[in-house]
Amino acid sequence: MSSHSFAHPKTISEIRSLYHNEKVSVPDFAELTASNIEKQDSRLGAFLNFDRKSLISRAQEIEKQRSNLEKYPLFGIPIAVKDNISTAGIKTTCGSKMLENYVPVYDASVIKRLVDMGALIVGKTNLDEFGMGSSTENSAFFPTKNPWDTERVPGGSSGGSAAAVAAGMVPVALGSDTGGSIRQPAAFTGILGLKCTYGLISRFGLVAYASSLDQIGPLARSAEDIALILDAIAFKDAKDSTSAADPNSELYSKSIGKSISGLKAGLPREFLAEGISPAVKELVLKAAEKFEKLGVKVEETSIPSVKYSLAAYYIIATAEASSNLARFDGIRYGHRAEGKDILELYSSTRAEGFGREVARRILLGTFVLSSGYYDAYYLKAMKVRKLLNDEIVKSFNKYDFLITPTTPDTAFKFGEKTANPLEMYLTDICTIAVNLAGIPAISVPCGLINGLPVGVQLLASRFGERTLISVSDAYLRDTKFNEMVPPFMKEEH
Ligand code: GLN
Repeated sequence: MSSHSFAHPKTISEIRSLYHNEKVSVPDFAELTASNIEKQDSRLGAFLNFDRKSLISRAQEIEKQRSNLEKYPLFGIPIAVKDNISTAGIKTTCGSKMLENYVPVYDASVIKRLVDMGALIVGKTNLDEFGMGSSTENSAFFPTKNPWDTERVPGGSSGGSAAAVAAGMVPVALGSDTGGSIRQPAAFTGILGLKCTYGLISRFGLVAYASSLDQIGPLARSAEDIALILDAIAFKDAKDSTSAADPNSELYSKSIGKSISGLKAGLPREFLAEGISPAVKELVLKAAEKFEKLGVKVEETSIPSVKYSLAAYYIIATAEASSNLARFDGIRYGHRAEGKDILELYSSTRAEGFGREVARRILLGTFVLSSGYYDAYYLKAMKVRKLLNDEIVKSFNKYDFLITPTTPDTAFKFGEKTANPLEMYLTDICTIAVNLAGIPAISVPCGLINGLPVGVQLLASRFGERTLISVSDAYLRDTKFNEMVPPFMKEEH
């Protein structure tokens, strides 16, 4: 086996064929994965926690499953996990000083499923602290670099997961998406990222940011890999009271290879308005034309309340965050500061443990929930959410899916938006309506601008994941935009 055969990023089915046809062992593949990560990651900083020795020992355990392969559909498939998803015995820091040394005693439900199916958990990836941010610059430890241009951010908050997949370190990674944190980094790094229907994937073991919006989901290089991971991790979980069963029980991977001719798509004009770069708009319109060539009927439409979604999101998300993060008080777990009494212990723990952005959001959230302001802010935001939801439901009476940009522009440079939080928040303008409405959306690569990837976002109605998988797959089979790799990967050949 030549090392050459691993130089190019592999998909799940290619790795399967190495294990099954070429009889490569899981520990051998894990060694190569480890060497590749050690080589790339000193430059990119995608992983907060990667340890060769534990990887190899996990791989040795998995190798024992070989005699019983039908039971292990993800046998030996390497998966990186965002560091706000609980992994038993492996540190889960949430990118925060508050949890710098926190080692959970239990696995998140998604991790349990993956491990039960034979997957190889590779390590924990970098993120903006508690998922709050769009660039990984809010990680308390270090920022992750974009594999396409290391002077630029990989997006966030799942920037580590996106960079790990885009640089070919792993075929797939898990991220979480509260307002765009899977889709935006996927777009910035030229890969696919899916935010599912709210409730489709269990949140048990996902450290909560804004519980009514948070969803775990996959990042990968092909629609098929997205579908295969979804097959593994989508189920109704008794441990999450908001978990919802998909009314359709067919495997998501059955949606690969289907014709999409005859579908109807809408192009909501609010997503192509002011603030969207003309070059991004052009590529999204080109993607829409491509869909027409594939037999989809595309027409312009409108979702008027989208323009209020950013404001509503930053009220609802911060309100929920202020409540969720109250648990980090220095008593139960995590960082603890000194204090002459309990109040001082609480306040110095929180002052030391949380970064600036997290503190800003707790303050904002506490404010919008406080008496006298609740009606003016929180209640009003909830009304906007309902309005938006109604418009979106109506839109899917007419269309099978909607086409929008994922981000207003390509990946920005480090420091470019850190001085002005509002500018940073505006990078989420295309993704957050999806979380507010609880519907699924996927970001799919649709070309390059000045050497930087651009994503087109496809939205479907609740439990419309199969439509999203079929349309992304058909689009990428035709355009091959997911085969674009960062320049450094070409140079290595
Ligand atoms: N960038 C958005 C925020 O900062 C979304 C983050 C996310 O989806 N976790 O809230």
